[in-house]
Amino acid sequence: MPVLVMKFGGTSVATLDRIRRAAKRVGVEVAKGYDVIVIVSAMSGKTNELVGWVNETSPLHDAREYDAVVSSGENVTAGLMALTLQEMDIPARSWQGWQVPVRTTSAHSAARIEEIPPANIMAKFAEGMKVAVVAGFQGVSPEGRITTLGRGGSDTTAVAFAAAFEAERCDIYTDVDGVYTTDPRVEAKARKLDKIAFEEMLELASLGAKVLQTRSVELAMRYKVKLRVLSSFEEQSDDAGTLVCDEEEIMESNVVAGVAFSRDEAKMTLVSVADRPGIAATIFTALSEAGVNVDMIVQNISEEGRTDMTWSCPVDQVKRAEKAMSDALADGVINFSEMLADTNVAKVSVVGIGMRSHTGVAAKMFQVLSNEGINIQVITTSEIKISVLIDRKYMELAVQALHDAFELDKAA
Ligand code: ASP
Ligand code: MG
Repeated sequence: MPVLVMKFGGTSVATLDRIRRAAKRVGVEVAKGYDVIVIVSAMSGKTNELVGWVNETSPLHDAREYDAVVSSGENVTAGLMALTLQEMDIPARSWQGWQVPVRTTSAHSAARIEEIPPANIMAKFAEGMKVAVVAGFQGVSPEGRITTLGRGGSDTTAVAFAAAFEAERCDIYTDVDGVYTTDPRVEAKARKLDKIAFEEMLELASLGAKVLQTRSVELAMRYKVKLRVLSSFEEQSDDAGTLVCDEEEIMESNVVAGVAFSRDEAKMTLVSVADRPGIAATIFTALSEAGVNVDMIVQNISEEGRTDMTWSCPVDQVKRAEKAMSDALADGVINFSEMLADTNVAKVSVVGIGMRSHTGVAAKMFQVLSNEGINIQVITTSEIKISVLIDRKYMELAVQALHDAFELDKAA
């Protein structure tokens, strides 16, 4: 039997009613002849509640116990989903991560999946079981402790199962009906994409589109798992939602596939840094050791042995970054005259694999922003992405203007 993986996110299993609805969807696929692996999230809000309980009990908690508590939301929905399917006369049972087993690293709360041996579940399919319901987001470490994969990790569980079982597809059921050219709450003309390439999705996910955990897209790309994102709230046809797939499968696409943005950025500058070999290494090692996720970096041309160093990072990490830099200054490992932090910036990016073969995308983007009177503070590019840092109050305007200029409301 071909295997299909179906993942239901927190809002899709938020109530017993919704679990029943999801189970009906599973029933449709079983009727088509699939052996189905269902991956479930915790009921929406549950994981936040569990995290809150852990922090209240023990602010500097033992990460192993954090995982023991926080993984439990998925155990509940896995059991309830299996019971619901049984009530529909569909042979099903639940599996917690350790029972499969989903073997992970020991990096508690941010573990990576190392291996999923298919034998146990396959043996049950061979005996006539039709649906294996697996608790997402969790696994077991080499030490035999429960681990979790980081917030949003059940997407990654789903893709990892699809890869391990060579599933025909991995359907991600969520509360939106697919991947959009941009967030419809910012641009009403945002259009749902029928298909998007893995690399574009990877950029969009890491740039702040919250549909899929970034790691799940990385895995899907590596193992060529066909991913479909679709809504569990609507009746679904076979081609509903958005297919995340290899670029070869996409015949026609716009040069720019989407506009992404992230509101919570900050820009920091060290003014007049003594410029010598190793200075960037020193600064960014200190920041990384302090847990600061640096994104964009600009070093100015040096004058008389001094330069300015600018970077962007999430706004809630500014305090940490300031402390790391003041400490480094006090220790004498770096030398600068002033430290600036602008916490009112946002990042806006255009993404598209078409940029590999089309020139002029950057020029057009900058022109569009200039026409709106928006000043660009920092620019970075990759092969398929251009990002700019701008004043946060122009973020919506920038997204709308770019969406218009690149005609993202129209299909290719
Ligand atoms: N329940 C976990 C979370 O809220 C995992 C997931 O839903 O993907 O992060
Ligand atoms: Mg999610």
